[in-house]
Amino acid sequence: MADRDWFEVQRLPHAVTMIREPHHSEDVKSYLVEGEEDVAVIDTGTGAGDFAGLVAALTSRRPRLLQTHAHWDHIGASCRFEDVLVHRTEAEALRAGLTAERYHDVFWRDPFDNARVPSKFDTRSGIPGAEPNSWLEHGDRIDLGGRELEVFHTPGHSPGSVTFLDRRARALFSGDLLYLGAMYVFFPSSDPAAFRASLQLVASLADAFDAVYPSHGPSPLEAGHVLTIHDAFEDVWQGRLPDRLGSLYGLPIVVFDFGSFAFLLPPDRLSVAAEG
Ligand SMILES: [Zn+2]
Ligand SMILES: [Zn+2]
Repeated sequence: MADRDWFEVQRLPHAVTMIREPHHSEDVKSYLVEGEEDVAVIDTGTGAGDFAGLVAALTSRRPRLLQTHAHWDHIGASCRFEDVLVHRTEAEALRAGLTAERYHDVFWRDPFDNARVPSKFDTRSGIPGAEPNSWLEHGDRIDLGGRELEVFHTPGHSPGSVTFLDRRARALFSGDLLYLGAMYVFFPSSDPAAFRASLQLVASLADAFDAVYPSHGPSPLEAGHVLTIHDAFEDVWQGRLPDRLGSLYGLPIVVFDFGSFAFLLPPDRLSVAAEG
């Protein structure tokens, strides 16, 4: 399968481009946000296909890589960029990349249409680490020329997850903080209390955006989805009973299922959440 068939490119309003990897079970989305001078590259996908080459073909502007966080499915091509920004608590994971063994496990974990994977792709190379050259901090404004992305530190899914707000385009880029699907808050590095605070923060900004561009699930979402997800997690926090127990990546989880989305939490945090 040729590289170009791995990605699906969608031009969206306000010079936003969505780059999907629809043939992998993660269905991860990366985004380009074009200013007059620079283009923000929000994450780099799973590493299959020539992501950096695709970006160069889509825009002639100077790329600035802004990592929402450093999980494997967001850093696949990060080593191919020179200007790399990430929250400092994700730097170690970004530098480390992913070993061939782990990459093999996570990339091929779920069944999907293997025939569509680019023929030259091989998880045995692992994901090379990338060296950040600047930090993303809460309150930063990334100036792309004629438009700015405002940085919000929104931990919970991971310690250094960030969300970007484009006030002029009225768009929010939410990374893995929220989307329609199973939201992961069960990793050892996840923090349900921080996740709750982050949902409260983005819900408080809902007047400032109309479109939400998440990293997984359907995109774009509407501002109302943020409020719905926020309210649902408040229910969980107030002691809603879980819908089922399970395990994922070898870790025990409890699942709070709201139909179009779910929260996956670690069992040991349940009592903490119920106590408020
Ligand atoms: Zn993630
Ligand atoms: Zn992800």
